[in-house]
Amino acid sequence: MAESLSGSSGSDHATLATRFNKDESRVDWHDETLWFIRKKRDKAAWQIDEGEQLGETASQIKNNVLGNLYEYLLQFEENARANGIHVHWASTPEDHNKLVHEIIAKAHISRVVKSKSMLTEECHLNEYLESKGIEVIDTDLGERIVQLAGEPPSHIVLPCIHWKKEEIGDLFSRHLGTPEGNSDPQFLTTAARLHLRRHCMSSKLAITGVNFAVAETGEIVVCTSEGNADLEVQLADVHIACMGIEKIIPQRKHLGVFLRLLARSATGQPITTYSSHFRRPRSGQEMHIILVDNGRSERLGSNDFRNALKCIRCGACMNTCPVYRRSGGHSYHYAIAGPIGAILAPGLDMKQHADLPFASTLCGSCSNVCPVKIDIHDQLYKWRQVLTKNDHVSETKKSGMRAMAMVLSRPRLYAFAGGATRWLMKYLPFVISNGLNPWYKQREMPMAPKQTFSEWYLQKKKSK
Ligand code: SF4
Repeated sequence: MAESLSGSSGSDHATLATRFNKDESRVDWHDETLWFIRKKRDKAAWQIDEGEQLGETASQIKNNVLGNLYEYLLQFEENARANGIHVHWASTPEDHNKLVHEIIAKAHISRVVKSKSMLTEECHLNEYLESKGIEVIDTDLGERIVQLAGEPPSHIVLPCIHWKKEEIGDLFSRHLGTPEGNSDPQFLTTAARLHLRRHCMSSKLAITGVNFAVAETGEIVVCTSEGNADLEVQLADVHIACMGIEKIIPQRKHLGVFLRLLARSATGQPITTYSSHFRRPRSGQEMHIILVDNGRSERLGSNDFRNALKCIRCGACMNTCPVYRRSGGHSYHYAIAGPIGAILAPGLDMKQHADLPFASTLCGSCSNVCPVKIDIHDQLYKWRQVLTKNDHVSETKKSGMRAMAMVLSRPRLYAFAGGATRWLMKYLPFVISNGLNPWYKQREMPMAPKQTFSEWYLQKKKSK
């Protein structure tokens, strides 16, 4: 059984990653599975000649959106209202959750279906509605699995990527009544489909996320692999779509750019199986769109961090990240895990998420794969500086950095320290490589070099 990390707030990334790392076979398999998806993404990206240009175009469109967000939002609101949609604005998760609850309460409904939406995860909507006596059924298969397990999603595209099929078989046997010991994926998927279809058929209210909101037409586009958003919305009397204000794109023609990039970057598919357009409520239906800020306006005003708002939530930065792959999504203790989560979370609460920008090797692989060219690793580095300036870094780390600065800025001291360390490595290696030094827990200590670079350099210079 996957060790549940829900309710793990209060622990930092390193502690939670250590818990995940206890199950070595799971870590290896998690790492390999995500790397397999990363390779699929590479293949899909290289298959189109204009791949690089597509990314550049997407990045430019998003730059334009961020520069004119206010106008585009108003244009979207006007067009959506003209289409018969109720448009609401929420500045905080609390406002958002209240609005959703008011709409549900007005319709006298006690059970709702919901397709995948990272915004509702960010707002902790399920917990809020459940506290008000409303049952929420997540209809995305991966989301339903983690919901039944009482966990948050561990990946924005693949919410239950940390679960093995045998564990899902056990879970379904307990919750859906499937035969014990049956973990055949085809069988389990069919069981889930029947279970979810029953809920979709009987629910009067459907909640969806939004992948793109077109200012020009006032329509929204929701991308799913299973068609669950389509099904639940078509059968419901009330549709509530929840979106962050950065989901706006200016015109319909821009959708082609983003739809081609999103699926290729997420799973290596040429296009998401279902890209559903919702422009107006069908006859007799009620449709609401809630636009949520939750710190986005503040980030828009920051030159260093505004680019993070270009994110289209494809998950490619997670699949490639060596830290994410080997520490698991729950170790990030925020709705959005991985490199993008590590630059979004401190913007909301610097103190609570101060550890996340340090959960990175700064290798830059995340920035390389990002389809909208977000400078993720540069932002991680900048966050570290901001956190240090704001005193959100531990005293141990600060003392270590001060000692390092002192040694590196004094050549004689540096030469002495280097010599002493090499002597210790050669004659008393246990002083450096011991149980107290986590660096060597999974590494072999290298042999001490015979001469330093400076000695080698001076020797070469003399011999010329
Ligand atoms: S930051 Fe880039 S790579 Fe990561 S999820 Fe967002 S769009 Fe995808």
